[in-house]
Parts: sequence; C-alpha cells; structure tokens
Amino acid sequence: MSDPQLPEVSDVDDVDVSAGDTPADRDPQAGGLSEREFSCHCCYDILVNPTTLNCGHSFCRHCLALWWESAGKNECPECRERWEGFPKVNILLRDAVEKLFQADVRRRRQDIQNNPRIAHSLLAFQRHGDEQASRGAAPGGPRRGAGSFFTGVLTALTAVAVMLLVYHWSSGEAHHEVLVSKPVSKWTTDDVTLWMEYLGAWAHQYREIFIEEKVNGRLLTLLSDEELSRPPYSIENPSHRRAVMEELHKVRELGVKPPQNLWEYKAVNGGKSLFLLYALKDSPRLTILYLYLFDYEDTFLPFIQTCCPQVEPTWRQWVEFLVKFSLLPYQLLAEFAWDWLSVHYWTSRFVIVNAMLLSVLEGCSFWRVWSRGEIRTLPKRMFGHLWKMLTHSLAFMLFWPLVPHFVCNCLFYWALYFNPIINIDMVVQQQRIQNQFM
Ligand SMILES: [Zn+2]
Ligand SMILES: [Zn+2]
Repeated sequence: MSDPQLPEVSDVDDVDVSAGDTPADRDPQAGGLSEREFSCHCCYDILVNPTTLNCGHSFCRHCLALWWESAGKNECPECRERWEGFPKVNILLRDAVEKLFQADVRRRRQDIQNNPRIAHSLLAFQRHGDEQASRGAAPGGPRRGAGSFFTGVLTALTAVAVMLLVYHWSSGEAHHEVLVSKPVSKWTTDDVTLWMEYLGAWAHQYREIFIEEKVNGRLLTLLSDEELSRPPYSIENPSHRRAVMEELHKVRELGVKPPQNLWEYKAVNGGKSLFLLYALKDSPRLTILYLYLFDYEDTFLPFIQTCCPQVEPTWRQWVEFLVKFSLLPYQLLAEFAWDWLSVHYWTSRFVIVNAMLLSVLEGCSFWRVWSRGEIRTLPKRMFGHLWKMLTHSLAFMLFWPLVPHFVCNCLFYWALYFNPIINIDMVVQQQRIQNQFM
C-alpha cells in the first residue's frame, strides 16, 4: 500500500531511534527535530496523511487533492515533476508524525473533517485513483477485498439471470401472449381453453365440456347467461356464470383478451412498456406525474390503488401517496411489484431488489450533494434532469417506430433483469468510496 521514498524513510528511522521509548520520554526538539521538519510545503502546517510522490516530496493528502483538483495535472506542487500511477499515503511517515505531534495532528484532522470542500476534493481524488486502478487492472486479474467477492457473486447472478431468461423464452412466451393480440373471432377451441385457464382454478371443471362442444371464439361470444345454465354447459353455480359473463363482456368489447399480466401488457403496449420501464428507473417522480396527467384511468388509478390501498380514494390515501412519492418513490414501485408476486414470482423479486438499490443510490447522491455543501445547486440540477428526461422522451417517441422488435425485447429484459445486478455493484462502489474517508 505505501510507497515510501528513501530519504523520508531514513529520516523517520532517525526519529524513532532518538525519540525514546514511551510517549512521555519523547521530545522532538531533543533530536533536533521540530514541527518544521514535518510540515507540508503546501499549507506549512504539520503533515496529515502524508503522501509521497515519485520525486520524493511529501504533502498532506488533502493538500495534494486540492492542488490536483485546481491544477488538473499530475504534477508535484513543489518541483513540477509528473507523478506516475496513483500516489498513496506514506504509512511510515504518517505513523511517525502522528506519534510525535499527536495533538496537532488531531486538531488538523478535526478541521479537515469539518470542511466540506476538502471532503469533496478527497472524494474526487480517490475516485480518480479508483478509475485509474480499474483501467490499469489486467482483465481477469486478481482484485483485492470486496471487489473480487462481488465480481464472483455478480458473475454467478448474471449466469442465473441468463438461465432464467432462456427458461422464460423457451416456456413459450408467445403462447401466453397470443390471446391479447388475436381477435376473438379467430380463436380456436384451444385458445378458448387457454382463456378459461386464465379465469382461475374454479373454471377448470367446465373445460372438458367446452372442448367436447368444440367451442371456438365465434361461438363463445354468442353464449348468453341462460345458455350457460342449460345443458350441455350446465354451469349451475350462479357466481361462476356471472364471472364468465363478465370476462366475456370484456372480450366482446375489446375484440381480444384484455391484458392481465406484465407479459400480456408488454405484448399489447410494446413501446409504452419499454418507455415506462426506463423512465421509472431514471426518474420515478416525473414518470408518475406523467401517468397522472396523461394516463390517469388506465395506469395511474390501478397503480395508486395497489400501492396505497384504501376502500375509497380519500385524502388519507393521497397523503400517504404524496409522502412516498416525494421521499421514496422507488418504494411505490416495490409495493406495486409486491402485489404481483404470485403472478410474476422472479420478475417481481428483481423489481423489488432494484427499487431498493435505486433508493440507496439516490440517497448516496443526495448525501454527496449535501456533504459538498452544494445544496443550493439542487434547483439547477433538477432543471437539468427535467430537460434531460424531456429530450430523451422526445427522442424515444421519434425513434421508437424504427426500433426492431428484437432490439426492444433486449432492452426490456436488460432493464428488468440486468440493471439490478449492475446496481448492486454501484452500491458496493459507493460504500467503498465512503468508507475510505468517513
Ligand atoms: Zn498540507
Ligand atoms: Zn516534487
């Protein structure tokens, strides 16, 4: 980790020899050593986290970070020699200075921690180092600590996700989506049987009769409540008859089976589902606002009823909704997915995990803005975000008709199943950067 340079090392060794054994015995002046010998040539104060460059000069780490940020070059502030790689803290020198000038170092550390500008510079400097390290690391080469663990976990998760996808595709996605796009007048007896499967377990007992009678789509739409009660159908349970008639009414009105799950919704509204998926991921608040303004009946109303269930829409429901909407919008999406757990076992779990990760990432970026003292730039950032979302949406609307179905599918599954895995990595990176300095 350390990159000690020879002159410093020998200096420090001299200090340790001349300084005695216990802190009480130590008198830096006795060995001819004063604070001046251990002062940083940037701030002319005692060195904190001394970082030694290739040229041999040492500076406080935060002084170096501030200099690096303002100069924008990898140059020594004193002799202007370029440094190679990413400079690290000189551990030997740091420990020696901390032992000799405990009180001074503690005071300076306090000052540094309380200064948001310095914290920001240190963070940016460390991120620059992390980027360099990831660029310089040989592909597949060993990585230290949490990195290698999570790379392994991520690879395993990606493999699982790919397998699930292949399973999903091979289990006949098209087979399930056929009824939502096929006109009821063209339904075969098999299609009618499939439609009855969707009605629920109670409808299974009547399936055989419908197959025997060779009921196709055209015949199905002509059936009345009275006919269902008589042989050969003989559906005696009045609530079963009513349920069949209600579903039949919807099919007659739409001409196709109404979408009842995510895959059917996607089959009918390909572009819209892709748009909503990406928009909710990038900007949940704006997207929900968009749904409220332009898609109230079909999408917003079912959404709010699922997330904040109430017998009747009241102000209480709206308060609950607005609090979640402004503070934890991803929580709303997680609750919506939670409601679909029984229908979409794995997909719902992916959405819930991703919603939690996105909440964490949003919290992290807010914390970053706060800790840098840039809270005043928030309105400007929000406006920039609004502008970005508007232009992206416009571009999507213009180019969507040109995108092939296969590409749309790839983008859809990518956002649904791979994005959570990428976000796990991003959360881990955030943790590492923050642990470095806090
Ligand atoms: Zn300094
Ligand atoms: Zn130098």
